[in-house]
Amino acid sequence: MRIETLAIHAGQSPDPATGAVTPPIHLSTTFERAADGSYPGGYVYTRTENPNRAALEQCLTALEGGAMAAAFSSGMAAIAAVFQALTPGDHILFPDDAYFGAGRLLRELMAPWGLTYSVVNMADLDAVYAAVRPQTRLIWVETPSNPLLKITDIAGVAEIARKAGARCAVDNTWPSPVGQQPLALGADLVMHATTKYLGGHSDLLGGVIVARAADEFFERIRLVQTIGGAAPSPFDCWLLMRSIRTLPHRMRAHSQNAQRVAEFLADHPAIERVHYPGLPTHSGYDIAQRRMSLPGGMLSIQVHGGAEEAMRVAGRVQIFTRATSLGGVESLIEHRASVEGVHTTTPPNLLRISVGLEHPDDLIDDLAKALS
Ligand SMILES: *Cc1c(COP(=O)(O)O)cnc(C)c1O
Repeated sequence: MRIETLAIHAGQSPDPATGAVTPPIHLSTTFERAADGSYPGGYVYTRTENPNRAALEQCLTALEGGAMAAAFSSGMAAIAAVFQALTPGDHILFPDDAYFGAGRLLRELMAPWGLTYSVVNMADLDAVYAAVRPQTRLIWVETPSNPLLKITDIAGVAEIARKAGARCAVDNTWPSPVGQQPLALGADLVMHATTKYLGGHSDLLGGVIVARAADEFFERIRLVQTIGGAAPSPFDCWLLMRSIRTLPHRMRAHSQNAQRVAEFLADHPAIERVHYPGLPTHSGYDIAQRRMSLPGGMLSIQVHGGAEEAMRVAGRVQIFTRATSLGGVESLIEHRASVEGVHTTTPPNLLRISVGLEHPDDLIDDLAKALS
């Protein structure tokens, strides 16, 4: 089945008890045992398993073409589960441009716990190959990267990982399963902050890991989920399922709008540089064309005049909201370096834009006024 059909039907069927077409929300934390001590419904306790979470995991597994999924209470909890499934002493290759929180997790929590890591330019396969060590067990990929939208060839990195006896994990939050299918390109694990495009409406926090194989490593991720305890609530799982039904249509519209906005900005004299993989001038354009089905709804711009001018532009928009995060129906604009704080490597004149589902001409008019 195609992704539009999976988004509506995978893990979703009318409730057998009532015939309700949309599934009920099972808020119960605990489930009754039969007189003989068995669990007739198959559920015991909601931290371990819940019908809404099971349905969500089934749906996300289908969308990414995996074998199993584990849903978490945030994207960060999902990333932490992959790191915690490793063993102290293991080495990770981590991208030089990536979600700031993931780098911070590695630096401030996982390194003291005993993981080692090297930061590499994932867009350069020779550099990735050269950075592999005998202890390398994980190569973490985020493409397009945050906030510079660098493009990594997932198939190339997955091959390097395979030869090194390491796993390749891809943060697929920005493209979503509609824009990119990392498992089909050879990756072992896919991670999403479901908070973003999968949720789609800036009203829930969640994360997921989808695994290519139901192997021992995935069992460790499952253990971090159920015993570590960062499980999503039944209501959040239900809300996410509600949003996923429209994901393929939203993603196409986000991407079309972003392409229009990027083309407008690329020609604007106040702009120094536009980072968007749908522009033929982007350094990763050819790989994006081959490996992605959509360039996506995210772009970054560098404005002439430094941090002050970038702040001034963000201060003048009317339709865009000045806020962090991404993937919702409303367009957001953010001065990224000041959100990331002291360890940031983001250029000070950079604004990150999450292009929403408003009419693209209104968004372009708003940016034109703010840049004038
Ligand atoms: C938001 C985000 C995360 C973290 O997700 P949370 O739900 O905020 O914990 C990780 N990776 C990427 C690319 C993100 O955009």
